[in-house]
Amino acid sequence: MSLYKNMANPTVENLVIIGSGPSGYTAAIYAARANLKPFVFEGFQAGGLPGGQLMTTTEVENFPGFPEGIMGPDLMDRMKAQAERWGAELYTEDVISVDLSQRPFTVRSEEREVKANSIIIATGATAKRLGLPSEHEYWSRGISACAICDGATPIFHGAELAVIGAGDSAAEESIYLTKYGSRVHMLVRSDKMRASKAMQDRVLNNPKITVHWNSEAVDVIGEGDRMNGIHIRNTKTGEESVLAVKGLFYAIGHKPNTSLFEGQLELDEVGYIVTKPGSVETSVEGVYAAGDVQDHEYRQAITAAGTGCMAAMLAERWLSANGLLQEFHQTAEAEKPDTPADVKKSETLEPAEFDIADTRHSGGFALRKLFHESDRLLVVKYVSPSCGPCHTLKPILDKVVDEFDGKIHFVTIDIAKDTDIAENAGITGTPTIQFFKNKELLTEVKGVKQKSQYRQLIAQNL
Ligand SMILES: Cc1cc2nc3c(=O)[nH]c(=O)nc-3n(C[C@H](O)[C@H](O)[C@H](O)COP(=O)(O)OP(=O)(O)OC[C@H]3O[C@@H](n4cnc5c(N)ncnc54)[C@H](O)[C@@H]3O)c2cc1C
Repeated sequence: MSLYKNMANPTVENLVIIGSGPSGYTAAIYAARANLKPFVFEGFQAGGLPGGQLMTTTEVENFPGFPEGIMGPDLMDRMKAQAERWGAELYTEDVISVDLSQRPFTVRSEEREVKANSIIIATGATAKRLGLPSEHEYWSRGISACAICDGATPIFHGAELAVIGAGDSAAEESIYLTKYGSRVHMLVRSDKMRASKAMQDRVLNNPKITVHWNSEAVDVIGEGDRMNGIHIRNTKTGEESVLAVKGLFYAIGHKPNTSLFEGQLELDEVGYIVTKPGSVETSVEGVYAAGDVQDHEYRQAITAAGTGCMAAMLAERWLSANGLLQEFHQTAEAEKPDTPADVKKSETLEPAEFDIADTRHSGGFALRKLFHESDRLLVVKYVSPSCGPCHTLKPILDKVVDEFDGKIHFVTIDIAKDTDIAENAGITGTPTIQFFKNKELLTEVKGVKQKSQYRQLIAQNL
């Protein structure tokens, strides 16, 4: 029997997908190809990044179809393009509340309220923090939860660094950081690591990594606005000491992003969504959970994608069985994904090609010229090659820069290539945006913000 009397209410979406990691995008691809026109809240900053956890890693070596490996952010860009190509509607917004007590369900972001007949929850998991007393003070001033995103910043070059954690992520991050730091100290709370045997071997055989067994952090210390050490304690003897390091990277696991669903869906004692054995159905009919938000065992991109596929297929069957499915046929052949508006032209820019009339530029040469010669507002974006949030920021900022074409100068600096510039600019993490006028730094914005914030900053400083 149908759960609804009004079967074809045009103001109600077939399916809302919350999250844009491998599970969310895979669900979106399947649902879009089934003509459901899924409405996807990609997320913004609650519970991770648009694109999910793989935006914070480098090479993904085990996702089928990429024998040479693929960079995490590139894999997610491809999944997103595939979802868009088939008609998924993507909104880079965080969901702030969900009401599953009445049908159709209600899903809200700051910008909109959406009614939906079915929902796929693909909100994944977030990196945990330790909550050390001075953590907030030195966050992004030496402390980071993403070695892959921030490891390349100049303050860490040739410096002693520390990683806290004992699992595969901690091992991977420690090895990665040896590219930049002079030594990496891995702090392990007990006398064992949880990392796989292969990863442990790589850590223990790396001459630049020192493992401190039975060691926990008590606090972070620093001078001015930079951290310069960690106060550590031996968990067996209680002995305390200071480890002089300029960077501290957390790799202490993740927590499922389920606070929106507390009291509305069955969760387990740790907060994972409980699904029926062998399925992705939750305790509420028409609501499905896919990926890491319901999986504490495998937590892989491919299992997330697999469960995303299952969720979309079950949602379609359920909508159909209840007479709720509204099909949206694509009128034209699905278009090939656009090449994102990019700085490709300026990436290959030679000094001889520099033209001050252009809005977009890249590299140290252009920045030096513009710093001295520009009479416009100069917006400088600092990025690093493997930084996932930089990928997220790109389409957001590109749109705003287009709106101010001819009125500003916009320069992209790759801090791995132009290390001296990044160092002089005091860059401690990517992405960072600096705004200059008449050779003066007006303001600096770290991380990824809403379009409106960049638009406002540019407009008020033109
Ligand atoms: C450093 C690192 C390296 C890894 N390497 C590999 C690897 O090599 N191979 C592999 O298979 N796996 C790897 N993994 C694991 C893999 O990334 C995860 O298993 C996978 O990303 C889980 O996908 P997901 O879709 O469930 O969730 P996630 O990737 O966690 O994505 C969750 C999504 O939900 C969104 N979201 C959260 N809250 C909200 C909200 N309130 N509103 C809207 N959206 C919201 C987030 O923005 C995000 O888009 C790695 C993980 C890490 C951290």
